[in-house]
Amino acid sequence: MARYTRPSCRLCRREKIKLFLKGTKCETDKCPVSRRTYPPGQHGQVRKKVSDYGLQLREKQRVKRIYGVLEKQFKHYFKIAEHAKGVTGLTLLQLLERRLDNIVFRMNLATSRPQARQLVQHGFVYIINKRVDIPSYTVKLGDEVSVKVKEPVMKRLAETQEILKGRAVPKWIELDAKNLKAKVAALPTKEDVGFPIQEQLIVELYSK
Ligand code: ZN
Repeated sequence: MARYTRPSCRLCRREKIKLFLKGTKCETDKCPVSRRTYPPGQHGQVRKKVSDYGLQLREKQRVKRIYGVLEKQFKHYFKIAEHAKGVTGLTLLQLLERRLDNIVFRMNLATSRPQARQLVQHGFVYIINKRVDIPSYTVKLGDEVSVKVKEPVMKRLAETQEILKGRAVPKWIELDAKNLKAKVAALPTKEDVGFPIQEQLIVELYSK
């Protein structure tokens, strides 16, 4: 799978948002997004008039980077959302939020989504007591996600929980932090995403 290997907070500047790609680094002043508000690179400070298409594309790239999804899979999510009942943009966000790696991240068991993805890939994550090692797996409403680990991973998870104890868990996830379990109790709302996303721009982009 293609991976981005340059300094991750460079992408935070590009997207003007803390992406939490490297976890806790983003929560400190080391993440330059608040200090330098212009995009990275030689031409970062050149003011350009951005076209509608440019805005739509930027928004799509942002959302893809937040969730760590590549173009092909993102388009696949959009197709599902488009054919589903309800508002396409919201359904798209709900699909992204219900990715198994994102739920593990939301359970505060990883400081970043890439770290959560690793927990899934290493086979530590279960859905209704069945191991699922596919990070993109869409967790269904009512499903219970649990993480089962032994030492020394257990110790690492406890440390992560301690670091993240101030980070709110969205309402749609019923978390049992002590037992490393969570139930998907509702579908996420736009507010639950926690990022100022203009998903309508993405719908417009793909609807051309
Ligand atoms: Zn950052």
